[in-house]
Amino acid sequence: MSDINIQPEDQAVFDRLKSDGRITHRLRRMMTQQWNTCVSCGRNTPQGRPVFAGYDENKKELLVGACCSDRLAHLATPVYWTGTLNLSAPDSSKVWRYMDFTKFVAMLMQQGLYFTTAENFSDPFEGAIGLADRETIWDNYYLDFFRQAVTTAPPGYTPPKLSDQEVEAEAHRLLKSIKATSTHVRKSLVNCWHENDDESEVLWQLYSPPSETGLAIQSTVGNLWEAASNSDQAIVGRVHYLDFRKRYASIQSERIFCKRQSLSHEREIRIVLQNDRNEPSNGQVLKCELRNLIDGIVISPFAPSWFVDVLNSTIAKFGFEFDIRPSSINDEPFF
Ligand SMILES: [Zn+2]
Repeated sequence: MSDINIQPEDQAVFDRLKSDGRITHRLRRMMTQQWNTCVSCGRNTPQGRPVFAGYDENKKELLVGACCSDRLAHLATPVYWTGTLNLSAPDSSKVWRYMDFTKFVAMLMQQGLYFTTAENFSDPFEGAIGLADRETIWDNYYLDFFRQAVTTAPPGYTPPKLSDQEVEAEAHRLLKSIKATSTHVRKSLVNCWHENDDESEVLWQLYSPPSETGLAIQSTVGNLWEAASNSDQAIVGRVHYLDFRKRYASIQSERIFCKRQSLSHEREIRIVLQNDRNEPSNGQVLKCELRNLIDGIVISPFAPSWFVDVLNSTIAKFGFEFDIRPSSINDEPFF
């Protein structure tokens, strides 16, 4: 957590506009894909400074720095670049979802994507901040940070007079409250994809090993954003693989996009939805137009030969038509 560094030109935006927190799907997409770049002039916002997410006078989404803030008519939210992760992946980037036949049939039936709560995945590090034996170092860092935060005030304000005991109590309360958000992060609803220009033999082995009737759906990051447009809070983002022996995941809820280095072969792009805080569910279908989502289907190189007909007739029964092709893993060599 580095310091927020508001300059007079940023303050002028806050004086002119009050943020209303209204973030449409298109604005969230822009906030993720542009990260810290002003869409108007292409300038990158320095650490600690805000970029402003909102709408122009024609209600068109806008993400601008103070540099181009005159275009902004409504402010949805400021975003501060204090160590946030860059989750963006190009819209044109190819993504794959390897699955067995039953999951594919379920997808056709449900006409949408199935999201699983992160805590139900086999990786115990989903939503984790770091390694257990490095927890004390992390705690102490944030306790120090909070001690400072509760005893300093922004310019123009008098810092509150607190006894040492009160400072300690408040710092510990704040630490507890940020750690409590982990429960919610682990309830996030997640749908996973693999980013790759081509097929991956390793993933075939993992997700549809020999003799299983598996397939891979091919799509793009842009399609995933479109598929998630039924949800205002969906984020499509590239997973960051971290060496937890050396660092911690993000303190913010975006750490749902952080995984262990040992899983980096997954090259994951995930769609994340927030789970209802009051009635969290274990899974959820997000309806989408499968025709637009699926660019093609590749049949597992290990599937038996009769599978092609079954797949074709199943797709036809549900009224779809997809471009189906065999896996290139089965291409013949010459010597
Ligand atoms: Zn600008």
